[in-house]
Amino acid sequence: MNKFSQLGLSQIIVDNLEKMGFETPTPVQEQSIPLLLNQNPTDFIGLAQTGTGKTAAFGLPLIDLVEDDARTQALVMAPTRELGQQIAKQLDEFARGIKSVNIEVVYGGAAIVNQIKALKKPTQIIVATPGRLKDLIKRKAVKLDHVQYVVLDEADEMLNMGFKEEIDEILSYTNEDRVTWLFSATMPKEVRKIVSKYMNNPLEVAVNTVQQGNTDITHQYVITKTNNKLAAIRRFMDLQPEMRAVMFCRTKWQTQEIADELGQLGYGAEAIHGDLSQSQRDAVMNRFKTRSMQLLVATDVAARGIDVNDLTHVFNHTLPDQLESYTHRSGRTGRAGKKGISMVFINPREGRKIQELEKKLKVSFERVEVPSMSELKTKRIHNWANIIVNTKVDEQSDDILKDVAHHFDALSKEDLLKRLITTQLDHLTSGGKDEDNLNETHGGSPDKRSRGGGFNRYFVNVGSVDGLTKADLIHYLSDITNVDRKFFGDITMQKTRSYVDVDSTKDKGISMKFEGIEIDGREIRMNKDDQGGPPSGGGFDKFKKKGRSKDRKRPDKRRDGRRSSSRRR
Ligand code: AMP
Repeated sequence: MNKFSQLGLSQIIVDNLEKMGFETPTPVQEQSIPLLLNQNPTDFIGLAQTGTGKTAAFGLPLIDLVEDDARTQALVMAPTRELGQQIAKQLDEFARGIKSVNIEVVYGGAAIVNQIKALKKPTQIIVATPGRLKDLIKRKAVKLDHVQYVVLDEADEMLNMGFKEEIDEILSYTNEDRVTWLFSATMPKEVRKIVSKYMNNPLEVAVNTVQQGNTDITHQYVITKTNNKLAAIRRFMDLQPEMRAVMFCRTKWQTQEIADELGQLGYGAEAIHGDLSQSQRDAVMNRFKTRSMQLLVATDVAARGIDVNDLTHVFNHTLPDQLESYTHRSGRTGRAGKKGISMVFINPREGRKIQELEKKLKVSFERVEVPSMSELKTKRIHNWANIIVNTKVDEQSDDILKDVAHHFDALSKEDLLKRLITTQLDHLTSGGKDEDNLNETHGGSPDKRSRGGGFNRYFVNVGSVDGLTKADLIHYLSDITNVDRKFFGDITMQKTRSYVDVDSTKDKGISMKFEGIEIDGREIRMNKDDQGGPPSGGGFDKFKKKGRSKDRKRPDKRRDGRRSSSRRR
């Protein structure tokens, strides 16, 4: 008997699940579904990550609970359009053949008129990103006064992305007696505020959160110079050519640059970020799913919609600003009972970040060394030898061998093997200008001023109001410019601007690197400070003239009407 039938779901849903190949409920489904059905109406908190089956955990009860009534009864809010689409697709499949349940998904970045038209049909369940839903409410395309169930999916992510005001506003249009089901991988302060504001005695289910430890994920870290991070990652890729991985970077620009560089070196890597159109993103995902490439280089936001269950590795090229987001990143691997590795690349000064992660997320990290070139070559050839020995011989090879054997007549077996090994090593040494030992130890670099050489002073239009500390800013500038943090000198941070010294031997073209980089929808500039530093602020005046300083505190409207949060792109 299908185990879903024991959870209290209707037969038609159980049959649909069987057709979808869902036989055994996942832990979050097993615990949540009976509660949501039998204790209805109840507020509910599900502490679970993507990949644990939480869509069905709320989606199945929702479909059974909505009534044969044309009005909208349930609202599911999700942080990104990709996630919204995935949820709606799954709900559609769960509800196949149930005529009284129609599901529509609405999100930003797509023509609103089509969505308005679709919503004219009776729609019992709306799946939405908050920004677009708010627009649709304003245009009176949706009515929420009969909504009985509000699901906040990935609540932590929605708040991270700056959707708090939208959520507050949307909930104000719903009935007082509706219930709220909140799903979140983590419970930061902001999520707790939502819980205390909108929920009464919620029932709670927690599964496989990082706090509980997903034992299928091994957390590792590597200490290497910022400039060597990519070379180090390449060595791990070379070691395991069969790996399938997502690498997280902080900015769209960085994501694209890294993917391009890897592509030029012959790796199957592509970038996915918010500047790509939907069809470009779909094409990238398709190539990844069909294994035409092995590494997806992504920003946190773009990665939210990645629905791939068999990643072997997650690489953190740079750590997220909000350490909690590490949970989402690492949770991309170690899914569906498979083992995975989440690897963090830090520079020598970031050692405390690992301790912070361990303390905050209650996970333990093991340090691993970047293999040296000679280790890499040996391991790689051992792997290759194993594959060859275990390869089943193709029937056609007999005929082909007869045809080509004479080419090798003059070679002994040893000579032949040496040549084969050389061809294997060839691609390992391509782009091989790297240092052999890429490992560093914890700790800072020598006194900056004592290294000789002068510094140039730069103006940056970012300051303490942007929620950055001096250390954050240096980290951020180093990431964007690819200039190691040790080449940054004194920093003066004011409210709306900062002045930073940069080693004059390392600052060539540095301003150009900021093209297209944004914080909170605002373009970031780093220009040489001709005025000699604070407090003259010549650069800032220029900035003001463009009328941007006034915009600073006002949320920037993106295509889907949502607000971008600071430092998330
Ligand atoms: P979710 O965490 O809801 O995004 O689900 C992750 C993936 O697991 C999706 O591709 C689902 O289709 C799949 N899934 C969820 N629950 C089950 C189940 N009980 N049996 C098989 N696959 C499932």
